[in-house]
Amino acid sequence: MITTPSTDYADVWYRRQAPSDIPLQPALNQRIETDVCIIGGGLAGLTTAYHLAKAGRQVAVVEARRIGWGASGRNGGFCSPGFSLGYEGIAARVGAAAAKDLFRMSVEGVQIVADNIRALGITAANPCPGILGAVRYNAGRGLADHRDWLAREFDYQVAHLDRAALAEHLSSPRYHQALHDQNAFHFDPLAYCLGVARAAEAAGAVIYETTSADKIEAAKGGWTVTTPQGRISAREVVVTTGGYTDRLVPDLHRAFLPIATYVMISRAAPELIASAIHTRSAIGDDRRAGDYYRLVDDGKRVLWGGKITTRTTEPRDLGKLLHQTMTDTYPQLAGLEIDTVWTGLMSYARHRMPQIGKLPSGLWHCTAFGGHGMNATAIGGRVVAEGILGQSERYRSFAPFGLEWTGGIVGMAAVQLTYWRYQAMDAWRERKG
Ligand SMILES: Cc1cc2nc3c(=O)[nH]c(=O)nc-3n(C[C@H](O)[C@H](O)[C@H](O)COP(=O)(O)OP(=O)(O)OC[C@H]3O[C@@H](n4cnc5c(N)ncnc54)[C@H](O)[C@@H]3O)c2cc1C
Repeated sequence: MITTPSTDYADVWYRRQAPSDIPLQPALNQRIETDVCIIGGGLAGLTTAYHLAKAGRQVAVVEARRIGWGASGRNGGFCSPGFSLGYEGIAARVGAAAAKDLFRMSVEGVQIVADNIRALGITAANPCPGILGAVRYNAGRGLADHRDWLAREFDYQVAHLDRAALAEHLSSPRYHQALHDQNAFHFDPLAYCLGVARAAEAAGAVIYETTSADKIEAAKGGWTVTTPQGRISAREVVVTTGGYTDRLVPDLHRAFLPIATYVMISRAAPELIASAIHTRSAIGDDRRAGDYYRLVDDGKRVLWGGKITTRTTEPRDLGKLLHQTMTDTYPQLAGLEIDTVWTGLMSYARHRMPQIGKLPSGLWHCTAFGGHGMNATAIGGRVVAEGILGQSERYRSFAPFGLEWTGGIVGMAAVQLTYWRYQAMDAWRERKG
């Protein structure tokens, strides 16, 4: 339970770009009735709320802190298809046909975000096309084959860049080749959260900030949600609490791992940065707990993300590690100073896929998007809304990825060990060249 609701956002770069006085929606302080109560004001909750409100449902969103206060307002801003669990892992669990359907849904998720930015006029989200997936080892024909497979199976076009073509974008001794996805894009996720929140409100949803849901109880014809100063009677409840999930719903709490990850922003140094990174596309590399980075502030600064820990470490300490990785990739950036570092919590299931659906009690959930939430919260919110509206049962596509127990403290230790093992395997693969 979050007991000290705060009106502050974390000191993330995006918060500094937003207006200083983001209007605070009042906390709930009465009893209300609504069709749907959504718990959590990140992109999973906001997207669900927007779809439902547009379809004419009465919607109340309760957010313990501020809209976009969690991972949705502090992430790297990469919006690309796929899920945290790669295609091979998904196909191994559900078979090729279902895995392909899920991939198509993730492409739809990217499109939802792009369409919303355009249709809702969220100019502050500042979307910029292009994500380069670069590899640090000799992948042979691997990337070109992957490009061909995407085109053949999904009619999804990406370009293959060999070392010379990649050097036109990046001056790093580390990279061998890349795939360039021009359908993917990067953007300011906090501005997007605030834009979707305003659109949901314009469609009739009511948002209560600094309002934690402290209890959910079954009631006649639906549910009662208790907050510190109010109570909501709702026919449906959707829990979208991501990496900040507490013990509100024990079945969800035992099925997720809160994993911390980190982002650093450099000081402004446009000429120095241009000597290393001369592309407006964002870059993600092939490391299994990968590095990802992009230019922000009109090319004046680098935003660099990566590293995971199973407990929140002082961001400054992790910032030094991110800086080391950056200078290992671009030795010419050794003198580039860190401005800000922040952290946020991702929600991971053991199977690394989103947990989307309905508990046997009838409670909806849409959570566990891991490090790949920008497309996935969008498609997750859409399919849950379709389910509530009786328009489709597409949410059942996620049923094979249920609420598995994560193993508690032992599960957390296993994650940290797996991460270290991945780092060792990455280093070995890169040493081979
Ligand atoms: C540093 C970082 C970088 C990332 N980079 C990327 C990226 O580049 N691309 C990408 O696709 N994904 C990225 N991700 C992952 C992505 O941000 C998440 O998967 C996604 O934002 C999760 O959205 P959500 O709505 O499920 O959760 P959140 O955005 O975390 O929202 C959950 C909300 O629920 C609220 N809450 C919790 N409990 C309660 C309660 N009891 N009552 C009321 N409210 C409650 C919290 O306050 C919080 O605001 C990154 C994540 C982090 C942390």
